[in-house]
Amino acid sequence: EITKASGEGEAKHPPLAGTNVMNIIVVAAECAPWSKTGGLGDVVGALPKALARRGHRVMVVAPRYSDYREGQDTGIHKRYNIHGQEFDVNYYQAYIDNVDFVFIKSPIFQGFNNNIYQGNREDILKRMVLFCKAAVEVPWQVPCGGVCYGDGNLVFVANDWHTALLPVYLQAYYRDRGLMKYTRSVLVIHNIAHQGRGPLDDYKFLDLPQHYMDCFKLNDPVGGEHLNIFMAGLKTAHQIVAVSHGYAWECQTSEGGWGLHEVIKENAWKLRGIVNGIDNNDWNPELDVHLKNDGYVNYSIETIETGKTTCKTALQRELGLPVRSDVPVIGFIGRLDPQKGVDIIAESMPWMVQQDIQLVMLGTGRSDLENMLRSFEGQHQAKVRGWVGFSVRTAHRITAGCDILLMPSRFEPCGLNQLYAMRYGTVPVVHAVGGLKDTVKPFDPFSETGLGWTFECAESSRLIHALGNALWTYRDFKQSWLGIQKRGMSQDLSWDNAAKQYEEVLLAAKYQW
Ligand code: ADP
Repeated sequence: EITKASGEGEAKHPPLAGTNVMNIIVVAAECAPWSKTGGLGDVVGALPKALARRGHRVMVVAPRYSDYREGQDTGIHKRYNIHGQEFDVNYYQAYIDNVDFVFIKSPIFQGFNNNIYQGNREDILKRMVLFCKAAVEVPWQVPCGGVCYGDGNLVFVANDWHTALLPVYLQAYYRDRGLMKYTRSVLVIHNIAHQGRGPLDDYKFLDLPQHYMDCFKLNDPVGGEHLNIFMAGLKTAHQIVAVSHGYAWECQTSEGGWGLHEVIKENAWKLRGIVNGIDNNDWNPELDVHLKNDGYVNYSIETIETGKTTCKTALQRELGLPVRSDVPVIGFIGRLDPQKGVDIIAESMPWMVQQDIQLVMLGTGRSDLENMLRSFEGQHQAKVRGWVGFSVRTAHRITAGCDILLMPSRFEPCGLNQLYAMRYGTVPVVHAVGGLKDTVKPFDPFSETGLGWTFECAESSRLIHALGNALWTYRDFKQSWLGIQKRGMSQDLSWDNAAKQYEEVLLAAKYQW
């Protein structure tokens, strides 16, 4: 029996039945809410539940970075040898929202909760080796609900370079020996910029037969001849997913592939782009808990006009900006990092402050960029707020209270904020790159279609041009604006939709030799 976990659209995406129901094990270095540094943690927290709603038996395997309240010690201990050093692990297990969670505990995972990728290259590599070795054995070692998953009809889903060794271990330890014949692996690219690069000598830590060395050896202008963990995973996995179609394509270009573009191109036959979903409980203007007080209100597509005006007033009041419903409020939320193009907003500031607008920016990150946010606010008290900090509540309120969300990211594998914005009737203005290009179809005034504005180059003149058109439409074409908002809000951005596409990839892997 399939239990409705979050009331998401089951009628739209009926669960799979019969022989195609699979055992799925998602393996990742982070899993929200226990551990998260970005989009990866969110995906691993949400996708498995959506796959379980489709009728599959689903497990998540992640390191146990601290003493989580959830999870029972199974009492199962294993010992692994990494280049002469012995490491103990034991397995914790929980069953939450119809998903089995297995947390792997070892002293070398402990105490990293705030910065799970901390340490020198060799230490991080050893952690990932240990994690992947222990994870590939989970279907044999850890009974869930009394029964081990075993190898029949099983697909592993590995994520980013951290777990790219898993497809290799599956092949080298089992499949090459005629074992786990019916098990497949899929590798998901969330960010190709991090690859687990190191000197060839690091191969001694991997515990693989010598003939696998070729899978890892890469020679490129940036790293010279080096060992590349991500590459070996990409070559060995049965299927590859990138977190948007645009990103799947960009990874095959010399600018976007960070040295792995040729390898990804060669393996493009097994590569597919799937845009991440959003959590319909957390990010839903009808239910949002952060809109329940301080003058904010919940709203839906039917009440968007009054609801958004009320939220805008509350936001202006909360931030001490002049309360005016006719002024367009522009928002930015994100890590303060050159990736996110905050400096492009900075270059556009002289133009922006000449317009009748308000600008609200929220972010943390590089200290020079944090100072820049503060100084924007200091110089333009009547128009600009630059909030330095990480505040989920404020992120929700900005998303609801703004008219426009700016995302001038230089690269963006998927991007979540533009999806949240559209869900809340906030119109995105974005650099047409990666997932932003996939998800924000440009507004066309002739056919009255499209979801926002895009610009082709990450430059301030292009941003100003796109934003100028958005402001013009906001002021002079109210019905067009409302149309854009409603089209954004009525899209199916759910994980149920994304999970259905993942299922197609898992099935393709299952029927692959
Ligand atoms: P990335 O993973 O590259 O940081 P994403 O757009 O995929 O970018 O995800 C970023 C997530 O972090 C979003 O949920 C966004 O709302 C949130 N976020 C980023 N900065 C802040 C902040 N300062 N306060 C609250 N939430 C933030």
